[in-house]
Amino acid sequence: LFITIEGPDGAGKTSVIEELYPRLQATAAKQIVKTREPGGIPIAEKIRHVILDPINDQMDDRTEALLYAAARRQHLVEKIWPALDAGKIVLCDRFVDSSLAYQGAGRGIGMDEVLKINEFAIEGTIPDITLYLDVDSDTGLQRIMKNRTNQIDRLDSEGLQFHQRVRHAYLKLAEANADRIVKIDARKRLDEVVEDCFYELLTCFPE
Ligand code: C5P
Ligand code: MG
Repeated sequence: LFITIEGPDGAGKTSVIEELYPRLQATAAKQIVKTREPGGIPIAEKIRHVILDPINDQMDDRTEALLYAAARRQHLVEKIWPALDAGKIVLCDRFVDSSLAYQGAGRGIGMDEVLKINEFAIEGTIPDITLYLDVDSDTGLQRIMKNRTNQIDRLDSEGLQFHQRVRHAYLKLAEANADRIVKIDARKRLDEVVEDCFYELLTCFPE
């Protein structure tokens, strides 16, 4: 079972996963592997560092998209595929939907173009269920201003409109993939969001 958590900056994915993971593990019979993108394994964490380092602010949009796809593939090869093959549950912070939203819509490369290079990278691996944590861009960015001073410059330089394009793309993806993507209202309090996520995932168990 492959579960992904998606959402724009400030949706609270990481905090939600921190609380969700132990609750899920207490419920599920199988081992749950918690991981994140970009990253999850050393090669992909290094690629993450290259992409997100402000010193590389001249990076071409398509180069960025290729690096995300490359990090994703290595993460699949080293961690996600072996875990799924061993019958484990994988809980991943971001996956291909992030690239479609951020590089496809946010950077303006186009979701179809970004999907193409990702199809090459993932060879058909699609999440069984995706929890999309939805938050409007104002609220999301406000949360980051409060909690993550180290990211303010980078997120600020991308501008409000970038983040609005990202959110709009996520909403379109959720509509077009309603069989897989569940939209969760992430403006609620953290414990309420965790509860909603937990409830949705219970429908996938016992697995
Ligand atoms: O998920 P997390 O917040 O750790 O991601 C780090 C940053 O990488 C985010 O702020 C997001 O803006 C950026 N990102 C991106 N494109 C992706 C995935 C993440 O621009 N495909
Ligand atoms: Mg996060």
